[in-house]
Amino acid sequence: MSDFIVIPEKKTEPDKQFPLFGELAHHEHEQIVFCSRPDVGLKAIIAIHSTTLGPALGGVRMWNYKSEKEAITDVLRLSRGMTYKAAISGLNLGGGKAVIIGDPHTDKTEPMFRAFGRFIDGLAGRYLTAEDVGMTEREMEWIYSETKYVTGIPKAMGGSGDPSPVTAYGVYMGMKAAAQKAWGSDSLEGKRIGIQGAGSVATYLARHLRNENVKLYVTDIFDQKARTLARETGAEVIGPDEIYTLNLDILSPCALGGVVNDDTIGHLSCDIIAGGANNILDDEKKHGSMLRDRGILFAPDYVINAGGIINIASEMEGYNEKLAMEKASRIYDTTLRIFEFADEHDIPTIEASNRLAEERINNIGMVSNIYSSKSHFPHRKGEMYMRNRS
Ligand code: NAD
Repeated sequence: MSDFIVIPEKKTEPDKQFPLFGELAHHEHEQIVFCSRPDVGLKAIIAIHSTTLGPALGGVRMWNYKSEKEAITDVLRLSRGMTYKAAISGLNLGGGKAVIIGDPHTDKTEPMFRAFGRFIDGLAGRYLTAEDVGMTEREMEWIYSETKYVTGIPKAMGGSGDPSPVTAYGVYMGMKAAAQKAWGSDSLEGKRIGIQGAGSVATYLARHLRNENVKLYVTDIFDQKARTLARETGAEVIGPDEIYTLNLDILSPCALGGVVNDDTIGHLSCDIIAGGANNILDDEKKHGSMLRDRGILFAPDYVINAGGIINIASEMEGYNEKLAMEKASRIYDTTLRIFEFADEHDIPTIEASNRLAEERINNIGMVSNIYSSKSHFPHRKGEMYMRNRS
């Protein structure tokens, strides 16, 4: 008689409604963590897309998602985007993101965020959080009181503070690189530039553009914000929909994602799209190709708005604003390299950028297979064995 108990293999049928593991495998996500503490109202999801280049960094967003599926889809999409952003920016960081399901105006409590901090702490540095939509400094401080794995903390607490100035500077650099490619000179003097949104990034960007004597147009759903920015920078205020039809040299979306879509793309009249918003293209593949066919040069958003993450990465090395700005200025060369690669391979710029990011992840991933004394837990034989086997 055998000593072994044979456990019959359990076949898990993929959920046809929502094949979660299929989703994870499809975009190569490493890990997804569901954090639940009903007693403090916490329902959070942390997605770690990749740690090949380093710890997975990405902000936490609080949003009133209509369904759990919507929250999962969002966190998977955003965490993957962070991997590409870090990779193309030459940073030693992976990609992650977290979402908290709830109304950011009514549902926030100290215990909720402290509980969330503890879940992050349990990941022992695999995931580093930061502020994102629906969060403020107050909640970040609550999280920080439970875990050190928080970045982008206020300057008063020894962090790097508001990333918007560095983000805007990177967008400006990316815009100049696009001008160089499109017109053979990176001077923006006299160019007609339309900025969508009059928030933080837009404000710092407009100040750089004002110094180059551009003809600036600005819009915001809050008219007063647009007027305030216009007064400071000499811009002309236009209506929120007018920005899609106005004859421009450069369109700079700095408000929200998905603005280049089936409804707007046919109306656009510009040579370049270069903005700070994330996920400007509603459908990367389709609208990336359509822009190319229409002769509109797209500076990939996650490349040129990477100043924020570059700023945070500098914080980890001991924050130095000048150095962060100097690193953000390299976005100019990175953007030009992407345009060159797109030309060489006859592909849209967004695809060129994705391929270059993947190339770096794969190449560095191969290098990290070499055993070095920097490997984690070298004193534990089991860990060493596992590492050398991979
Ligand atoms: P913000 O909230 O300060 O500004 C956004 C502005 O856009 C607001 O004034 C809002 O009223 C306006 N707006 C919203 N919908 C609009 C519409 N349909 N038309 C016109 N205006 C509209 O945000 P921010 O920090 O300036 O960020 C702007 C964008 O850049 C966001 O998409 C953000 O995700 C992205 N981004 C920001 C940073 C950063 O460092 N702040 C870094 C990377 C990416």
